Amino acid sequence: MNQQKDIIVIGGGIIGVSTAYYLASQGRSVTLIEKDDIGAGSSHGNAGLIANGFSIPMAAPGVPGQGLKWLFDSTSPFFIKPRLNLDLISWLWKFCRACTEKQVKQSIPILLALGQGSFDLFDELFTKEDVNFGYECKGRLILFTSEESFEKWGADVAMIREFGVDVSLLDADGVRRIEPNVLPAVTHGIYCASYAHVNPGRFVHEMARLAKNQGVQIITGTTVSGFETSGHQISSVITTEGAFIPDQVVLAAGAWSSVIANGLKLKLPIQPAKGYSLAYKRPSASPRLPLSLSERKVAVTPMGDTLRFTSTLELAGFDPFVNQRRLAAIRQSVNEYLPGMEELEEEVVWSGYRPATPDDLPIIGPSGMYRNLILATGHGTLGVTHGLITGKLVSQIIAGERPSVDLTPLRADRF
Ligand SMILES: Cc1cc2nc3c(=O)[nH]c(=O)nc-3n(C[C@H](O)[C@H](O)[C@H](O)COP(=O)(O)OP(=O)(O)OC[C@H]3O[C@@H](n4cnc5c(N)ncnc54)[C@H](O)[C@@H]3O)c2cc1C
Repeated sequence: MNQQKDIIVIGGGIIGVSTAYYLASQGRSVTLIEKDDIGAGSSHGNAGLIANGFSIPMAAPGVPGQGLKWLFDSTSPFFIKPRLNLDLISWLWKFCRACTEKQVKQSIPILLALGQGSFDLFDELFTKEDVNFGYECKGRLILFTSEESFEKWGADVAMIREFGVDVSLLDADGVRRIEPNVLPAVTHGIYCASYAHVNPGRFVHEMARLAKNQGVQIITGTTVSGFETSGHQISSVITTEGAFIPDQVVLAAGAWSSVIANGLKLKLPIQPAKGYSLAYKRPSASPRLPLSLSERKVAVTPMGDTLRFTSTLELAGFDPFVNQRRLAAIRQSVNEYLPGMEELEEEVVWSGYRPATPDDLPIIGPSGMYRNLILATGHGTLGVTHGLITGKLVSQIIAGERPSVDLTPLRADRF
C-alpha cells in the first residue's frame, strides 16, 4: 500500500533522530524509517565525546605511511582488510589525495564551526526540553607515558592553537592536578576544555523521544530497499513494509548510506570503519573526566555508572567479526596508565561502523542529482558531536533558509 508522506528520514542513528526533531520543530510532518531499532548503528556504544578541540581530520600528512606500518601489526588500532574491492580502492586513493596540509587547514575551521554549532544547540536544548543523557562538560585530558610521543604532538597543538582552540601542556604534576588517578608511568598530558561527553545510547533515544513528542512517526524494523524515480525526483521510497510517496527524503543511514544511494545510481564514497568499545561497571578508581591514552590510541569515557574504553579503526567492510586480539590490546593498555583497572566487572563488548569519507568531513546538503533528496551522512569519527547541528542544517535547507554553517565544502560532488 502506498502512503503519502511529507518528509521521510532514512536511519534512526543520532543524525536521523536529530534531523527528524528539528524538522518536526518547524511544523513539518516527518516519518523516520529504521531497519532495526533506534540507535542500532554506530550511535550507541561509542565514546560519547562532543569533541571540539583537536578537530584535525584523520586524512593528514604522514597518516598513509603510519597506516602502512600498522597494517602488519595484528594488535594495532588501525587495520585494512586486504581485498580487491573497487569502492575501497577508490576510497583509499581519495583518502591519500586528501592527506595534505592544505586540506587539513581547510577542514579544521569547518569541523570547529560544526562543533560550536552543536555546543550552542545543546545549550538551547537544555533550556527548551527536559532531557537527561548524562551531558557533562569537563574537557578532555590526553595522557602520555613518554616524552617522545608528547613532543610529537607539538605540531598539532601549534596548528589547533592557530584556530583559537585553548590547549594546556602539562607536566606530571599538572596531569595529577586535573586527574589524580593515574599511574606513575604517566609523564605528560594535554588538556583541552572544549570537550563535553554524553551517554550516546541515551542521547539517541532521548532525541528520538523528543522527535516523537513533536509528532514524528518512527517506524522501526523496516528496511528501505529501493526507490522509484521520475526524472530528478524520488517519487517513491520502497520498504519491506510497503512504499511511501515522499515530498522530501533525507538520507541519514550512516555507514549504510552508500549502499542505499546505489539504488539511486548515486555514488557516495563512504566506507564502514569499524571500532570497538568495552564498557564496565564504573570502578571506584575511575577517572573523573574523559581521557585519551595517547600511545595506545584508546579513549576512556566515564558515563554515569559506566566506564567505557573505545579504540580501533578497521576498514574491513561490514564484517561483524570481533577481533579478540584487538580487544585484549585495549584491556592491556588501560593498565599501563590507570590504577585499579585489573578487576573490572560486567564487561559489555560492542562494535560499530563509523561512516567514513575520504577527507573526514561529512556530506551535508542537497544531493545535486535529485531535487527532493538531502544527504546527511559520512560523519566518520564525529557523528555524535555533529548530530544536533546536522539536524538543524537539514531543517534550514528544507525550510529554504540560509544554513548557519557554509555547506559548500560538504557537498557530495566535492570528491
Ligand atoms: C568506537 C567508536 C567511537 C566513537 N566515538 C565517537 C565520539 O566520541 N564522538 C563522536 O562524535 N563520534 C564518535 N564516533 C562516531 C559516531 O558513532 C558516528 O559518527 C555516528 O554514530 C554516526 O551516526 P549516524 O546516525 O550517521 O549513523 P548510525 O548511528 O550508524 O545510524 C544509521 C542507522 O541507519 C539504519 N539503516 C541502515 N540501512 C538502513 C535501511 N536500508 N533502511 C532503514 N534504516 C537503515 C541503521 O540500522 C542505523 O540505525 C565513534 C564511533 C565508533 C565506532
